[in-house]
Amino acid sequence: MLKLYNTLSRKIENFEPINPPHVGMYSCGPTVYDYTHIGHLRKYVGDDILRRILEINRYEVKHVMNITDVGHLVSDEDAGEDKMEKGARESGRSVWEVAKFFEDYFWKSVDTVNTKRPNIVAKATEHIREQIKLIHRLEKNGFIYITEHAIYFDISKFPNYTKLSGQKLEEKAVGAREDVFIDKQKKNPQDFALWFFTVGHFKDHTMRWPSHWGEGFPGWHIECSAMSMEYLGDSFDIHTGGIDHISVHHTNEIAQSEAASGKQFVKYWVHHNFLIVDGEKMSKSKKNFYRIDEIVEKGFDPLALRYLFLTAHYRDKLNFTWKSLESAQNALNNLRELIRGWDEPKIGCAQYEQDFIEALNNDLNTPQSLAVLWGMVRSDYPSSAKAKSILEMDKVLGLKLDEYLGKPLKIPARVRKLVEEREKIRKEGAFKKSDQIRKEIKKLGYEIEDTQKGPRVVKRAS
Ligand code: AMP
Ligand code: ZN
Repeated sequence: MLKLYNTLSRKIENFEPINPPHVGMYSCGPTVYDYTHIGHLRKYVGDDILRRILEINRYEVKHVMNITDVGHLVSDEDAGEDKMEKGARESGRSVWEVAKFFEDYFWKSVDTVNTKRPNIVAKATEHIREQIKLIHRLEKNGFIYITEHAIYFDISKFPNYTKLSGQKLEEKAVGAREDVFIDKQKKNPQDFALWFFTVGHFKDHTMRWPSHWGEGFPGWHIECSAMSMEYLGDSFDIHTGGIDHISVHHTNEIAQSEAASGKQFVKYWVHHNFLIVDGEKMSKSKKNFYRIDEIVEKGFDPLALRYLFLTAHYRDKLNFTWKSLESAQNALNNLRELIRGWDEPKIGCAQYEQDFIEALNNDLNTPQSLAVLWGMVRSDYPSSAKAKSILEMDKVLGLKLDEYLGKPLKIPARVRKLVEEREKIRKEGAFKKSDQIRKEIKKLGYEIEDTQKGPRVVKRAS
């Protein structure tokens, strides 16, 4: 049975969906005002692994993800400027163009690390009606108040507002930075905006829609409540996001959704820990991030990054270093090389498959699942049995191992000749020359790895 850590209960729980075998899963998606970086990718690969584990447990998953293509206020440093509007101003493009450009880049990035596309992708700008509808429900239930600048959710009306984070309200006030322009008519500092009016501070905001309260644009949190409930119902099974979403975004989602429906919004909350660099979160604002293009330019296969993510548990921080990516690439190359020589898949290794699923069902223990995989690879089982099982395992790992299994690498004669030549020169100690040949081989699309058993040729990641 699948067990998941639920942020709401702060415990590992048995996973029992509301309406089996169906599972509704909502993932917070990107804000498309800047480039997707590999920190984001860790989160999306994490969601993908969760979805694949649900599927291998024979659940029918309906996966919904949003695209935040309308700007929102985020930090004091932005001096109250909307991220998307800022991106547009800085790049000389329209806000719509900015959103489209970075959305395309997002898809390109997540596709290269082999994540399955969600069944439904919901854009905030295409669901304004649903967001307004939800604000209406909140108005009817008496949870909102209106100032000159915005419509707010009144958190004093919602009991147990901080139940997801377990924080005290006073603690949260410190972290609540989103309404950075000072609205003196706001009742509690933690009250959050559902709708901003295009007046005063926001009079020049480009994206705007009519509503019967006045022209404006939605606050950030309302879109996720409105769109998840639209596609998955008032109560659904799993909601995912990064740990940074716990204390503000998801706390507010719960408040809005439950205040509107009177029902429990989400049964299991799953939060992914960060990819960090030198002890700090990889992020746009700290400018300490890498994009997938940079990984590829340095000669790595994007799937080596996926492999690297799998080596850490999703609730642990993962420190990114080039060295760790290199190790992941080597492990993946080794695996690919080994399985090239395997026979046609037959029967399978039942025990290993069971141990593999058990590891994953234990709160998505991917490092343990890789250990099981390697145990099987090194075992004495016939390669045909291992081949069958490795394909089964790859349904979750998503490393595209089928492209290598039983397919010996056909090295062109020219490359083979260069490898032999290099080996001879290297033995004579002419390392400079041998390095030149290595570069030549690289240009032809192959890499040489010097192992104890001699040089090994692998295809270069394109
Ligand atoms: P954003 O587009 O910045 O709102 O981020 C989209 C998602 O990526 C959120 O769920 C964040 O929690 C997550 N995220 C951002 N930076 C990182 C990081 N360095 N490591 C893991 N997840 C991240
Ligand atoms: Zn969200």
